[in-house]
Amino acid sequence: IRKQQLIPKAHYGGRHAVTMLPGGGIGPECMGYVKDIFKYIGAPVDFEVVDIDPTVDNDEDVQYAITTIKRNGVGLKGNIETKSEAAYVTSRNVALRNELDMYAYVLNCKSFPGVETRHKDIDIVIIRQNTEGEYAMLEHESVRGVIESMKVVTASNSERVARFAFEFAKRNGRKKVTTVHKANIMKLSDGLFLETSRRLAKEYPEIEHNDMIIDNCCMQLVAKPHQFDVMLMTNLYGSIVSNVVCGILGGAGLLSGRNYGDHYAVFEPGTRNTGTAIAGKNIANPIAMINASIDMLEHLGHHFHADLLRTGVNAAINVDRILTPDLGGTATSTEVVDAIKRNISENH
Ligand code: ADP
Ligand code: MG
Repeated sequence: IRKQQLIPKAHYGGRHAVTMLPGGGIGPECMGYVKDIFKYIGAPVDFEVVDIDPTVDNDEDVQYAITTIKRNGVGLKGNIETKSEAAYVTSRNVALRNELDMYAYVLNCKSFPGVETRHKDIDIVIIRQNTEGEYAMLEHESVRGVIESMKVVTASNSERVARFAFEFAKRNGRKKVTTVHKANIMKLSDGLFLETSRRLAKEYPEIEHNDMIIDNCCMQLVAKPHQFDVMLMTNLYGSIVSNVVCGILGGAGLLSGRNYGDHYAVFEPGTRNTGTAIAGKNIANPIAMINASIDMLEHLGHHFHADLLRTGVNAAINVDRILTPDLGGTATSTEVVDAIKRNISENH
């Protein structure tokens, strides 16, 4: 995390260049809202937009996207689709994370007071290993009718992400880290992940550490979510648990997630959905992508603009309660964006 602050970023005249990957589904319209609001608040960011054609079988677009993120240091992304069913064409989202070595994913899960949910006042941070585990993309048919899929857990990546989690807890005044695993069954792979986190926990005596088996964890999350503080897990569990917590807090349209490596950072909606069925209808909740853009502004050090936008979002959702259908409201996407802009101008 310390290295994160040293990331070289394209920076001229106080402005930053950021790679924007709209992706498919609702990605492009959500990016349109971000651009609109950034213009409105005068955020000093210039987007370099890279469109990735989901129907093409080669990875030239993805490679170009990776090149621009390496140049800019920072990206904002929607979910990129991979339409080809050919087994050799692997997920572009996974390729991007792996090639940029963004080994840690962070999802801040904090309740919005204006959104009706079963549980109130939740404040959980999920930290997920983001580049290996079940997403190693190493699948093959060893003999006809027998598929093997490799789950890869390395000591070095387990250590990096565990270190990230404990450092995150320490820097953010968190009290507890819970490692989530299935080491009772996957004794070697999850066993290594769990043992590594236990070893690192000893270096952070001020932070409580416990562990929980993934299945029990899901039950505990929906029943008694307040027991969790920072949660640390491998890739696939992280994907599932992220969606469980997003569901508890109001669904796919609210939270944002952050991908971090030692050199690059990419921000995106927390559940990484494409939202194909709701695209182009002006009903998608724009908040998740706008929250991702706030995370990005914070990361770039543009705290003034991040605060401005955050205040606008909170007022629109929690005070005015301008909510899209996914949150039980009747507002359109553009009405939410307008409410945010109105609140920003009223407060400043
Ligand atoms: P995936 O991309 O994983 O296939 P979907 O795109 O089908 O997932 O999204 C899962 C669900 O979440 C769908 O019901 C979709 O409509 C909903 N969803 C995703 N993003 C949003 C959003 N921004 N606003 C409202 N609903 C959303
Ligand atoms: Mg989809």
